[in-house]
Amino acid sequence: MGTNPRGLRMIAEQLRPRGIVDERILAAMAELPREEFVAREHRRLAYADHPIAIGRGQTISQPLVVAAMTQAVAPGPEDLALEVGTGSGYQAAVLARLCRRVVGVERDAELATRGAAILARLGIANAEIHHADGSLGWPSAAPYDVIVVSAAAVQVPASLVDQLAEGGRMVMPVAHSQDRPQDLLLLRKRQGRLETMTLFPVLFVPLLEGTAD
Ligand code: SAH
Repeated sequence: MGTNPRGLRMIAEQLRPRGIVDERILAAMAELPREEFVAREHRRLAYADHPIAIGRGQTISQPLVVAAMTQAVAPGPEDLALEVGTGSGYQAAVLARLCRRVVGVERDAELATRGAAILARLGIANAEIHHADGSLGWPSAAPYDVIVVSAAAVQVPASLVDQLAEGGRMVMPVAHSQDRPQDLLLLRKRQGRLETMTLFPVLFVPLLEGTAD
């Protein structure tokens, strides 16, 4: 994967001017071919400054949102990361460039299969996607240094907090009710206690219980 002109333009026009300063994240996002994660008819828009439909009623997040969530959890090269709601697989691919290993969980069977196929096609071998209810996390690989939740709920699921390592960081959109505005929260576990910071308002699809075929 080399740098691509559309990726570089996205970095210069959308990410750097809006506070994304982590060079590892900027490099990862400049290199990853975002067009691989969207349907053929949306390829023209793949680097645009907004979310794009990926089918099954879901979207690939706006580049800035992916970058800001990633920057908030400060992924390190030795880190184990969990993503809940992998959708297209793009956020998982970004994390895979920055972490040792990424465990992804997606409730929709078709998206889980498609996401895993894209990662394989791009040769990203340190990320896996499981078809399961991610609100329960993925306990067998826990604890995680980094958790990114890409769907919104009224509260942070207790299983995810349990699976966050000491010193770990988690980002998740939370709204007081499903039809209220969502805030992106950053949670850090320090000496067994959870510190919570509100980052900025976001708009994500809901975190649903159970799985879909
Ligand atoms: N990060 C994605 C965007 C995800 S959209 C990307 O980069 O493209 C949110 C995804 O969360 C959807 O695919 C939806 O199916 C999934 N989702 C919702 N509730 C879930 C749950 N309980 N467990 C796992 N995935 C869930």
